[in-house]
Amino acid sequence: MPSTYAQPRYPAAPTPAAPERRPVVVAGAGLVGLTLALDLARHGVPVVVLDEDDTVSFGSRAICFAKRTLEIQARLGLGARFLAKGITWKTGRVFHGDREAYAFDLLPEEGHEHPAFVNLQQYYAEEWLVQACIDAGVELRWKHKITRILADDAGATVIVDTPDGGYALHADWLLACDGARSFIRESLGLPFTGQVFRDRFLIADVVIKGDVAFPTERWFWFDPPFHPGQSVLLHKQPDDVWRIDFQLGWEADPEEEKRPEKVIPRVRAMLGADVPFELEWVSVYTFRCRRLERFRHGRVIFAGDAAHQVSPFGARGGNSGVQDADNLAWKLAFVLDGRAPETLLDSYDAERIPAADENILHSTRSTDFITPKGDAARAYRDAVLELAARHGFARPLVNSGRLSRPSTYTASPLNGADDWQGGAAPGAPAPDAPVLLDGRPDWLLRHLGDGFRALVFGPPDAALVAALPQGVAAVFVTDVETPGALWDHAGLVAARFAAPRGGAVLVRPDQHVAARLATPDAASLRAALDRALGREIGA
Ligand SMILES: Cc1cc2nc3c(=O)[nH]c(=O)nc-3n(C[C@H](O)[C@H](O)[C@H](O)COP(=O)(O)OP(=O)(O)OC[C@H]3O[C@@H](n4cnc5c(N)ncnc54)[C@H](O)[C@@H]3O)c2cc1C
Repeated sequence: MPSTYAQPRYPAAPTPAAPERRPVVVAGAGLVGLTLALDLARHGVPVVVLDEDDTVSFGSRAICFAKRTLEIQARLGLGARFLAKGITWKTGRVFHGDREAYAFDLLPEEGHEHPAFVNLQQYYAEEWLVQACIDAGVELRWKHKITRILADDAGATVIVDTPDGGYALHADWLLACDGARSFIRESLGLPFTGQVFRDRFLIADVVIKGDVAFPTERWFWFDPPFHPGQSVLLHKQPDDVWRIDFQLGWEADPEEEKRPEKVIPRVRAMLGADVPFELEWVSVYTFRCRRLERFRHGRVIFAGDAAHQVSPFGARGGNSGVQDADNLAWKLAFVLDGRAPETLLDSYDAERIPAADENILHSTRSTDFITPKGDAARAYRDAVLELAARHGFARPLVNSGRLSRPSTYTASPLNGADDWQGGAAPGAPAPDAPVLLDGRPDWLLRHLGDGFRALVFGPPDAALVAALPQGVAAVFVTDVETPGALWDHAGLVAARFAAPRGGAVLVRPDQHVAARLATPDAASLRAALDRALGREIGA
């Protein structure tokens, strides 16, 4: 099939002559492993990444990157690339039969640097991450396949096969990002429980040149005339590539359905006979919603598809994996250099398992709605769709995929004092907002960086700076132009944090809120930091 993409091939890494020992080994240079390695390297942690392949992921994989992922990639220095290449969208339309039922807007409010979503082929994201990892000093070992693992209290030893032989590598910490079929998960015999959906989907990436009748929106059809009885999803990607998902039903023969003679008529029926297109990539998928019982197993920690899987409706797989990386990287970095106790890593499970459950719940509900089980479920679905076309109250009942949103770690053991109501509470990702710095337009999140920050709602205050615990920097936000402060000229920082004048929000290195202090002082800031560093877990 033709491809608009020149797939890179990376040189196989040399084979070490003797066994090695490294503090952190990441298994898998996919979207999640690369993001995690880059984040760790930016925190000063030496990282080795092993991948059995020598390239980025190819074929029909993630395309919808959510706002939170864009914010994380921006923190890692890649935000501009995603925005420049990706197709920005925020409107979704739902069709039933031959009519539009309704449309929705995923980010109705203004004042965010990043949009609700960009669509971008996963291979571009990975290619940029590879380069950023190289620039940050990550050691990437292509064509190094893990074939055995021996885990113990001191870490894990992996046996690695390479084109020139093999070697043993001891990792003080092994981060398993080796994907849905995780060899590490299987080797350790860890149960992976959940649901497999009895349905198949044909995913066709097609190149359409010239004017196309579809705008840059997410379009979802239930029971359209061109594919009766099933559903269809359409998304635009860069390079004139369009993603079309055709629901096929469980009885469909995957090999037969992938043949161009079968696919082309389906696409033509949808686009119209006079729209020229070429197939770029075609696959048939079944989907699973499942997760590991725990993500941390001593010094082996799972992230991304190795830890949990969802159906693609809602774009929650890659996005949640990137959020795993965001959550884990700073914690491990702080543990490794002694700034936090090892118990901090227990909070990875405490925060990311509920996040995985939230994703699995949404994904399961979407899949149940799209693939009703039985006549009663189908009758309910069709009635809801009929109503949704006429009445707003029925629209929340339609589920064509609740699109990825970041999790709020409401019950996290790291959450500290919470001195006011409204706005971003402890556990929530810090919301972005426009600010002015020295008269120039800027964004709040750019100033939160990847360390602990005290976001202080008031003018620069030397006494407060002196009261900050070591490792916490202050960011002052004011409602009038003030030297040395971010000017909240639109009032959106204050509104989104609902902060009282003089209050401070302690923000973690992954830009989640740790605590809200109405009258911050040395003692309350220290207590909030101790808690956010896991010093009280198990104490
Ligand atoms: C059709 C489809 C559409 C999707 N759409 C979206 C979407 O729009 N948005 C979204 O967020 N997500 C989407 N996803 C999900 C997303 O693609 C995955 O969640 C994401 O790729 C997971 O990344 P990962 O790094 O955990 O795993 P992978 O990307 O699978 O990476 C695993 C890596 O581990 C390596 N590896 C495996 N075994 C070994 C071994 N033994 N030794 C060394 N290396 C090994 C592999 O070579 C690979 O590079 C979609 C998935 C599909 C299938």
